[in-house]
Amino acid sequence: MTDAAENFHVDVVVLGAGPGGYVAAIRAAQLGKSVAIIEREYWGGVCLNVGCIPTKVLLRHADVAQLVSRHAAAFGLAEGQTADFSAAHARSRQVSEGRVKGVHYLMKKNGIREFEGSGEFVDDHNITVTDAQGALIASIEFDHAIIATGSVIRSLPGVEFGARVTGYIEMVLAQEMPASLVVIGAGPIGIEFACVAASFGSRVTVLEYQDRILPAEDDEVSADMVKALKKLGITIVTSARVESAVDQGAQALVTYGLGETTESVTADHVMVAVGFAPQVTGFGLGNTGVAVSERAAIVVDEQLRTSVPHIFAIGDVTAKLALAHVAEAQGVLAAEVLASNSSRVMSDYRFMPRAVYSLPQAASFGLTEGQARAEYADITVAKFPFVANGKAHAVGETAGFVKLIADAATRTLIGGHMVGPDVSELLPELTLAAVQKIAIDDLIHNVHAHPTLSESLQEAFHGLAGHMINF
Ligand code: NAD
Repeated sequence: MTDAAENFHVDVVVLGAGPGGYVAAIRAAQLGKSVAIIEREYWGGVCLNVGCIPTKVLLRHADVAQLVSRHAAAFGLAEGQTADFSAAHARSRQVSEGRVKGVHYLMKKNGIREFEGSGEFVDDHNITVTDAQGALIASIEFDHAIIATGSVIRSLPGVEFGARVTGYIEMVLAQEMPASLVVIGAGPIGIEFACVAASFGSRVTVLEYQDRILPAEDDEVSADMVKALKKLGITIVTSARVESAVDQGAQALVTYGLGETTESVTADHVMVAVGFAPQVTGFGLGNTGVAVSERAAIVVDEQLRTSVPHIFAIGDVTAKLALAHVAEAQGVLAAEVLASNSSRVMSDYRFMPRAVYSLPQAASFGLTEGQARAEYADITVAKFPFVANGKAHAVGETAGFVKLIADAATRTLIGGHMVGPDVSELLPELTLAAVQKIAIDDLIHNVHAHPTLSESLQEAFHGLAGHMINF
């Protein structure tokens, strides 16, 4: 140990300061624990630095770019205008940096000790921190640890990363959009970037292995999103088996199987977005007794305890549902369990809200119609289109729908699927109703302000009860 290295004991050490880790640290500190948090790169995680937040800025600019180019006449704007991507890049970095400062402010406010460096478990009660040069800066003995190390991007055999073949981080940080882009994988990341690039004039091709885009979503969401993306000029190829993606210098070449044939496409850039894998290496996990599953995720119980009961794991590293708000909820629970013996549990992740911030957005919770038909004896489905909603007409975005699914026996919600303007904002009423098992017959009497997009929820509730009013 160097002379400057600190050697001390804390009640709780948190490894990783993403949305799960920093929130868990705050909650544990609020409950009276002494807390240290270790982060080597991204205070606020991928989310604040190169994920959720900066991409939402880029998508807002993409939306404005669409408005001034494609919809200029309808809004009485001068035609032929283009939006400058450099403004989008600059503002996304500015917003990201501001949010990161906010995390440091919160750590300080809550008396949490921050360590910038790589944490490595020595055993089940000790962890060291080394700086970027490999010098030891702290040795920490802990009563409890919370592992929140997140995930790393997955790749594919045959894909060689290079300047023109990358994951999403290089795209988030790019100062300009490529003239042509191939996106491999039509999950949330692939679809969101396809929308950004196409809105700034890129020729975009999306290659998806499954037979539909956003394959985890309800069939009707995938079908509506195809229509919306085609309007943005995006080419979509489904059932595409990517064989290789190679940076050839002047261009990148992607080769893929389609039915019996082999096809290829060249582009200025290829973005690989085929999912994440839990980050379980590089921090001495093997020096602890923490068990890892066959899928290489840390195994946790319903209170986020690992196989070593005083060590918890939260967020993407648990591979439960790789979303920032899920990590936050897990972080709060883990802190409350270790600090105040909470008896709460998290078990059914299917009722967590999910959102894709594409143009238009897709948002959902619970079971798809296909899953609901397979699991429930009798279901009721109601679908209300935004074309029948006054506010959607006022904002000029009438594509999409609200589709709700109820268990006919209990008359409670078991799934909701939406495509349309800002539909991610409509999820909380649905998840609250579903989790609290509020009956459809009560939901229909919850008055919604007029005119709002949320009236579409009330219409769909009426639909489930058999009497939609405005459609
Ligand atoms: P994903 O796993 O959600 O989607 C990956 C897509 O790639 C799937 O549609 C899959 O079928 C496809 N795919 C897999 N192998 C392929 C192949 N060989 N060729 C072509 N396509 C292939 O992953 P993602 O979009 O990279 O997101 C990663 C994680 O981050 C996910 O857990 C996601 O939920 C989360 N995330 C969510 C949001 C959001 O909710 N807005 C945004 C970003 C990330």
